[in-house]
Amino acid sequence: MRYGEKGEAVRLLQVALEEAGEELPRYGADSHFGSETARALESFARKNGITSWSNRNDPVPEELLDLLGCGEVPDDETELGHVEPIDVGVPVFDLRSGRPNPHPKSMRSSNGKTLVRSIRAIDSIVLHQTGIDFGPKSASDEKLARRALNVACHAMAFQRGFYVLAAPIRWHIYHADRLNSRSLGLEVEGNYPGLMRQQVASGKPSTMRSSTLEAGRAALRALVMEARREGASIRYLYAHRQSDSWRRADPGEWLWRNLVIEYAVPELGLIVKHDETLAHPSGKPSRRGMPVPIDWDPRGKGRY
Ligand SMILES: [Zn+2]
Repeated sequence: MRYGEKGEAVRLLQVALEEAGEELPRYGADSHFGSETARALESFARKNGITSWSNRNDPVPEELLDLLGCGEVPDDETELGHVEPIDVGVPVFDLRSGRPNPHPKSMRSSNGKTLVRSIRAIDSIVLHQTGIDFGPKSASDEKLARRALNVACHAMAFQRGFYVLAAPIRWHIYHADRLNSRSLGLEVEGNYPGLMRQQVASGKPSTMRSSTLEAGRAALRALVMEARREGASIRYLYAHRQSDSWRRADPGEWLWRNLVIEYAVPELGLIVKHDETLAHPSGKPSRRGMPVPIDWDPRGKGRY
């Protein structure tokens, strides 16, 4: 990370600076490391007694980035504040330390490793359906669980009734476009129709099982608690379709009703902004996000 750089890593640094009380009055978090950002960073360094960044043309030292919660993934996972998953009576596989770094579905920082976000940048969970069943049926739970490592997510709930913690909370994973930098991705295994009375868009439909819902609820709770233990406050829950209309059926009526309306809102206190949509980075109007529809949620907006 250095002066003149542009991109998402810079934006996360800027957000962290603002949250640390530094000001970016003219340009805000605009993803460009210019003189205003350099001034804010110098001010932050001064206040924290860091003198190793005396020339703004030098790369920003790691100790400064770490202090802002914007450092790179250390080789030693324990530095991330690794914690044991919470026991809610549903089996869990914690595979976070086995995750390859960089992960192919993550944003890379300048040294080629997965980008670590400021914990304060994280405020939401995005709910997804995988759109397929994972197999083979003969695979052991342990073996099946490992398949979550190739899915772009922080956690994944399986139909057999267990979930996987698949990536550290602070890792920047590509799962929901404009929501990536501030959210955790939860994937639920299966292919479910957008509306319960309809056919699935393609492929073979999955059976709607209670074990899937139990795993999904436990995974939601675990993400909220894990994030809290690291200092993040998860307040919002989004459907993937809110950031990409091509994912209209994601996560679908069945998961929405059972995991969000019946659980995440009343039990975890998460907030749904039903009519919020996020422009897709492609700029295509056809991919602009879609609201949570009335067909899924009485507080929704518009039809499916
Ligand atoms: Zn999705």
